[in-house]
Formats: sequence, C-alpha cells, structure tokens
Amino acid sequence: MAEPVGDGVRMGRSTMAVHAGSEPAALGRPISGAIVQSTTFESDPLGTGEVLYSRYGNNPNHRRLEEKIARLEGAEACLVAGSGMAAMGAALLSCLDSGDHVVASTALYGGTKAFLDRELSRLGIQTTYVDLAAPDWAEAIRPSSRVILAELPTNPLLRITDPSPLVEVAHGCGATLVTDVTFASPINFRGLEHGVDLVVHSATKYLGGHSDVTAGAVCGSRDLVDRARERARLFGTALDPHAAWLVERGIKTLALRMERHNANGVTVAAWLEQQPEVEHVHYPGLASHPDHQVASRLLDGFGGMLGLELVGGAERTTEFVRALRICTVAPSLGGVETLVSEPRFTSHVKLSAEERAALGIRDGFIRFSLGIEDADDLIVDLREALDAAFGVSGQVRGSREMGAVVGSTGKGEETG
Ligand code: PLP
Repeated sequence: MAEPVGDGVRMGRSTMAVHAGSEPAALGRPISGAIVQSTTFESDPLGTGEVLYSRYGNNPNHRRLEEKIARLEGAEACLVAGSGMAAMGAALLSCLDSGDHVVASTALYGGTKAFLDRELSRLGIQTTYVDLAAPDWAEAIRPSSRVILAELPTNPLLRITDPSPLVEVAHGCGATLVTDVTFASPINFRGLEHGVDLVVHSATKYLGGHSDVTAGAVCGSRDLVDRARERARLFGTALDPHAAWLVERGIKTLALRMERHNANGVTVAAWLEQQPEVEHVHYPGLASHPDHQVASRLLDGFGGMLGLELVGGAERTTEFVRALRICTVAPSLGGVETLVSEPRFTSHVKLSAEERAALGIRDGFIRFSLGIEDADDLIVDLREALDAAFGVSGQVRGSREMGAVVGSTGKGEETG
C-alpha cells in the first residue's frame, strides 16, 4: 500500500526501497549516491552545530541508509551499526541497567542468547527464557523486568508469535518489547505497526541481500533509537561508509528480491512436502505449520527460510547435503543464493543435542535460506540430492570434496 511521504510523493514499499533516503533532486545529483569515505568533516570554528564524525554514525552514508530503513519500517528513527549483534547490543543496553531482568524467547539466535547469558549476566542483568507461545509465559515477569525479547519468525522452526499480547504485557509492566525481525524483512512484516517498541535487523541478511556486507539496524521511536545511538557511539560500532553504501544499494532491490524469496519458499515447500523421503517441512506458508493462520494474518509474504527433516534423520542428512550442487553449504541467510546449514553445527552449536531436541531441533534438521534462483532448478537439485542420499543412483552423486563442511564450524561459535 502506498504511503504519503514528506514532499507529498506517494511511495509503495518497492518505490521506498529504491528512492527513500536519496539526496533531493538537483541538477548534477549522482543517481547512485556517493560513498563519503571521510572520517571527519569541516566544522564551524565557533563550535556551533552538530559535530560530524563517522564513528558518531552521522556520515552522509549512515544518514541516507537510516532514512531508507526507517521509511520501510514505518519508524520515526533508525540506527545502523557494524553488525546485527552490534545493533542488538546497543538496543538491549539502551534499555537495561544492572539489576534489571529480561524475559526472552527460548527461540533466539544463538549469538543473542550468548550475549544475554555471557555478557549481560556479568553486568547483573538476568534473563528468564520462556516459550512465548505458552499461555502462562507472562508469569516470568518480575518487578525488575525491563525488556521482553522475541524473534519473528524464529530460527530455525519459523514460529510466528502474534506480538499483540506481548505488547500488552510489556506496556503493562513498563518494559520495552524488542523484536529481531531479520528473517522477515520490512517487506514481509513491520513490527512497529503491531506495537513493538524496537525492531532489530541483522542487515547482513535480507537488507544487504548479497552476502557481501555485515551490518545491523535498530528502528523505533526517536527517543528509544537515540538512547541506542548513545551506546553505539561509545562502543564504536559505527558502520563503515562503504558498507553503508552496499546495504543502501542492496535495499534498492529488496522488494523485488523478497517477491522471489517468497515465491520460491512457497513452491519449494509445497514440492518437498510431497516427497516420500521427507519427514517434515517447516514453512509458515504450509497449512501443516502450527502458525500458518497467524502467519497468514500478520505477514505479507511467508519468506525464503525453510526447515527440512528427512526420513532417516542425521545420517541421510549428511549424504543429502553433500550431494547438493546449486544449494551451497554455508551459515547465514537472506542472500540471492540458496544456502543450506544444519543448526547443530551453526546457530545452535553451543547447545547439547538434548537441549536442541527440547527446542524441537533434532539432529539432522536442515535449514534452507532459499535464494532467488529459478525454483525449477532448485527442485532438480533437491531431487537429485534426495536420490543420491536415498540410494536411487547407488552412490552419492555430485559429492564435493567437502570433508568437514557438514561437520563442526571448528571454532564452536554461533553462526547465522
Ligand atoms: N539475528 C539473527 C536472527 C541472525 O540470524 C543473526 C546472524 O546470523 C544475527 C541476528 C546477528 O547478525 P550479524 O551476524 O550481522 O551480527
């Protein structure tokens, strides 16, 4: 739906993705905005006016990008940072002091959970994890609760929680509702429209969209974002101007890319569900997904993220993943290319098999970030890999010399 913007020009989300944040029209204006590779800027000799300094996040590349993301999210303000974790760190620390308490979803990105457990706990900030779909989750609220933290959709089960009850509880107890919406992108879901206070993105994923830049963003009211900005300035998490330019350029095609990610998600999920070798497909666009109804109501698209469990579990998974030719084994998500990973080796590597199983992630669970390739080609790749893994051809076809690729990440760190 088109929305009126400042100068009276109406922009739908595709138009915003291309034009929002651009320099105003003028003869000689570069159509692709300049990269301002300058740390500092000439200032007023008497010290009046804002001091421009790239670590402060007020380089013209930061400003253009923040304006574009804020428009897409329908936010008063946006802060961009050097990574999704930098954005999440700034958001959380701007709302929390020593002695405060966080109520967080059990389904959080591993890095965020590690930040809560290892860093915030050292500052005397405790976290209680809850299943936000359980009717009694709000019993975890304490007088000291200052943040409720959720992800939408969750990784890797793609559960969708309606934020309305979370908003009600958060605002009833004076807490800030922070939601990581990386998997949705502002094309598929805009949390602020549903009462979320701060939305956080790893812009490394769909916003950047080409697996070539690490960045993060926080959007919300000017007051809340300014508080996060203060932390970001002190922690020195500013995005490099060239990286900001890359994200800005990536977002120009965001709406177009999401259209294809959404279409590929629906097509591949429906196809996979019909295959005899497939035990379960986790995709919110399928009627079999537990949150299909709420997802249909809240989302403008079901996205390109998909979970897959094969008959035969982890052993078959290894052969299947090794036999894929177009789909590439790598952590992270949201790029134009289809990536495949096993959460036990990437995002959930720090949890034991039992802890993962308790979250519904059995060994052998495969996560796909479907790219923008032709769905037919992806389906052929998947079919051939299934044939290889299940012995139709008698051996694993197309197996690359991957060795440890389907094993541990080696460093034992959580990756996307
Ligand atoms: N949030 C989610 C849902 C993620 O998947 C990731 C990384 O994979 C992050 C945050 C952290 O983002 P970054 O790697 O840009 O710091």
